Amino acid sequence: MRQGLALILSAPSGTGKTTTCRLLLKKLPDLKIAVSHTTRKIRNGEKEGLDYFFVTSKEFEEKINNNDFLEWARVHNFYYGTSLHSAEEHLNTGHDTLLELDVQGVETLRKMKYQGIYILILPPSIEEMKARLTKRGTDSEDRIKQRIETGKKEIKKYKMYDYVITNYVVEDTVNAILAILQAERVKVSNYRPTSPDIEALLQEGTD
Ligand code: 5GP
Repeated sequence: MRQGLALILSAPSGTGKTTTCRLLLKKLPDLKIAVSHTTRKIRNGEKEGLDYFFVTSKEFEEKINNNDFLEWARVHNFYYGTSLHSAEEHLNTGHDTLLELDVQGVETLRKMKYQGIYILILPPSIEEMKARLTKRGTDSEDRIKQRIETGKKEIKKYKMYDYVITNYVVEDTVNAILAILQAERVKVSNYRPTSPDIEALLQEGTD
């Protein structure tokens, strides 16, 4: 069985990542999610085990010490991490899996040469990002400033990714992600024989 593809997605705060991911999952119900752990508080509408596993700092640090994480980072003063189990459980059974990471997580995975499709979603402008964060109304003015500063640093790291999509209209952004995934699935390196006769033929060697 072929390994699933790891779709590694980053987007600065206020880029429309949540809306993008929701629509993506609606259009691609087979896509699995590697649910992250975090020490931040649960927000209205979020569900334990679906959006995140919400844990205490002590629990998170125990997991770090047990080497339970594929990667982890501190983002906006909270811990966030993808456990090895979350990442591998679906990939190992051939399911394409979405990993949502900040740029630090991507840096870690790139250093490990972790196989995946790295996609960065960007806002059309920093002004637009500010406007979206203000409109969302979930953060204080200080928090918004902090998120914008983090966002600027993230934008500067765009070369770490394989693809950059500017999120003008969410439908277009999702269609671009679907097109990328479709192209990656049919890459030569991802081909696996689909029948015993083709497998036998290829075992004879290629010309
Ligand atoms: P939020 O608190 O808004 O859900 O997420 C804040 C930031 O943490 C976002 O940039 C998000 O991509 C990032 N993030 C979420 N899960 C993980 C994770 O498992 N690892 C890392 N490195 N970043 C994560």
